[in-house]
Amino acid sequence: MSAQQQTGHVVVIGAGQAGHQTAASLRDRGHQGPLTLVGDEGVPPYERPPLSKAYLTGEADASQLWLRPETFYERHAITRVTGTAVALDRTARTVRLADGTRLDYDHLVLATGARARSLPVPGGDLDGVRTLRTLRDADRLRADLARARQVVVIGAGFIGLEFAAAARAQGHEVTVVEALWRPLARVASAPTAEHFTRLHEEHGVRLLFGQGIAALHDDGTGHVTAVELTDGHRLPADLVLAGVGVTPCAELAEQAGLAVAGGIVTDSRLLTSDPRISAVGDCALFPHPRASTPLRIESVQNAVDHARLVADRLTGATRPYDDLPWFWSRQYATTLQIAGLGQAHDTELTLPTDDPTAFSVLLFRDGELIAVESVNRPADHMAARRLLADNVPLTPDEASADGFTLRGHLKARTAPRVPAAL
Ligand SMILES: Cc1cc2nc3c(=O)[nH]c(=O)nc-3n(C[C@H](O)[C@H](O)[C@H](O)COP(=O)(O)OP(=O)(O)OC[C@H]3O[C@@H](n4cnc5c(N)ncnc54)[C@H](O)[C@@H]3O)c2cc1C
Repeated sequence: MSAQQQTGHVVVIGAGQAGHQTAASLRDRGHQGPLTLVGDEGVPPYERPPLSKAYLTGEADASQLWLRPETFYERHAITRVTGTAVALDRTARTVRLADGTRLDYDHLVLATGARARSLPVPGGDLDGVRTLRTLRDADRLRADLARARQVVVIGAGFIGLEFAAAARAQGHEVTVVEALWRPLARVASAPTAEHFTRLHEEHGVRLLFGQGIAALHDDGTGHVTAVELTDGHRLPADLVLAGVGVTPCAELAEQAGLAVAGGIVTDSRLLTSDPRISAVGDCALFPHPRASTPLRIESVQNAVDHARLVADRLTGATRPYDDLPWFWSRQYATTLQIAGLGQAHDTELTLPTDDPTAFSVLLFRDGELIAVESVNRPADHMAARRLLADNVPLTPDEASADGFTLRGHLKARTAPRVPAAL
């Protein structure tokens, strides 16, 4: 960024994980100019992961969700504005909010995230049919869970399964319906998916795979009472959670003529097709050296690392984005941690332990390690992150050797060399 831009006005649209981090990192790196963070939720920036975990079960309260205390923004001269950005004039370099406010920018960062998809079936808008994305959604679901008895979760991705675990922990009858033949199909390998299937079954959740939803029904009151499957079966339900994915919030970009293709298109520096506009977090579709085609990633790591890269660029240090993706999920007392991008793997290798509830699955493509899924194995996850980030070679043959551990391999391959005696 030029010296003039370093003192220019940076406007960030979206005050979620990525928007907050962009503003915080800009100040941390010495950005001198005015900094405005626009968010439409009317609460301070907060973290979403607990919404489907500790917050939903009541183990955490809202005060534990805020990314920083309110005073942080004042102290760092970050102007927080509550409002919805509705129009972007790229020639005039202004953003208009729904209440008519106009904000001039020197650089604009789109951190608009994504919104939960609703169910595209008859009855999908009945009362008692919910999605889970925001604090408001979680608050409503907490109240629903206090009353509900029969819960149906549609979609066995992370949000669906985490919600199922939270509902089950509160003693509800829970059925998960998934159109594909296993859970976590988009995001985890078959061995990991099998483990989570068993885990939920052991906790008394009923899982139905290969089943579509035909319609949702009520009893004339407008409140859901049943979920009809495509095979005609009806499941009684007084609370339905649709965990069927998200749509990136890209309308603002699209209306302004920026490239959008299932996400706001950026280059490897997270710049959109307008050099005065960056996109970060869940809304950005970006190239990554570990993926063959541009991708969107929905994770805290991605939101935070994107934000840091843009803050670096705007304060003078440009680099391509290549940070290692990692992710976690927690269901019951089980933690899954994923390092790398494993979707295109051709070989799976499970590293068992003496404990049947703890293992890691190594995923390889063309003989190279590309991802590691660790279940209750935090040390494996940390070792995997270093191995992958540093591109330390590991083949399936090496990993199959007796006594192999990720930590041992990391140590052996990265041990400081002893200088030869003089
Ligand atoms: C329930 C739940 C559990 C999760 N669990 C995990 C987990 O365990 N691990 C993990 O790594 N990730 C998890 N995630 C994903 C992670 O939270 C997201 O990837 C992350 O929040 C993305 O940050 P973001 O800033 O890009 O988007 P968001 O957090 O969605 O923030 C975008 C913000 O922009 C606002 N906005 C949008 N359009 C406008 C506009 N026009 N004007 C003003 N404001 C606007 C939105 O209202 C929102 O507040 C979870 C997500 C959810 C919903």
